[in-house]
Amino acid sequence: MTDKDYGNLYWRLESSCPLRCVMCSSDHLIRTIKGYENTLLDQAKEIGFKTIVFTGGEPTLREGLPYLLRQAGLKGFMTRLDTNGVYLNGTQVALIKPYLTMLGLPLHGSTAEAHDLVVGKKGHFNAIKCIADSSTRRGLSLKITTAVTKENISDVKNIADYLNHSIHPEIYGVNALVKRNCNPQAYQKLKIEEEEFENLKEELLSQNYPFKLSFCFGHKDSDMAYIFVNPDFTISVTAGDSEHIIGDLKNERLEKILSKVKINHELHMRRFEETNI
Ligand code: SF4
Repeated sequence: MTDKDYGNLYWRLESSCPLRCVMCSSDHLIRTIKGYENTLLDQAKEIGFKTIVFTGGEPTLREGLPYLLRQAGLKGFMTRLDTNGVYLNGTQVALIKPYLTMLGLPLHGSTAEAHDLVVGKKGHFNAIKCIADSSTRRGLSLKITTAVTKENISDVKNIADYLNHSIHPEIYGVNALVKRNCNPQAYQKLKIEEEEFENLKEELLSQNYPFKLSFCFGHKDSDMAYIFVNPDFTISVTAGDSEHIIGDLKNERLEKILSKVKINHELHMRRFEETNI
């Protein structure tokens, strides 16, 4: 591990989103700017990033998404699309599949009732199952992620069992709520304690599921480890209870921007290894 190693670069293509998940902190208002896409990919490649994680808001809202995925693939990146799936169907999955290494989908409950309540959209649980089936049929790897809250922590083992029997992901990401990613009222109401998370982790690890498990609990697993490109091409890093904008790709090179802060490369690469196939 060197201080030059880079794994995942999270590119928020759009901040808007059709869902209103109970824990979401995004105001969905950052304006999308275009014109620096290839600059970003070229500079990320020069520095040595390995995976571009296309995220949001909701990244499928971005016009020309297949082109961006293709560009990233042609430049030698692995690619993951983290989407809530609202705008995806089988035809679109087939269209983007050649350019994707992995599709990331959320699942916050083991039943339609439990999951749909979290995302505020009836029928979303079933939609996720359809997209997952369609992806698996086409040989696309899946990462499913649960945001663990006070309200669903007792259901997470059921979600993992459901994934094991019905979805068959490559990776199951189990993430505790982090203050910086949550609206303040929801965080106070829904946050879980580290001990509860550790107990859950132990329980899941003891099940020997066929998929890889990835766990993320707050600051200790994320501070100075996640690097984001925002829809306006500002660059931010996760630190403490907020995210810090450290530069703007429209005016500076990515390497120079990242040299202004002390990225925790060991944690950054550990998170990369745990969340990639
Ligand atoms: S958590 Fe993600 S899917 Fe849910 S409202 Fe926020 S941006 Fe949309």
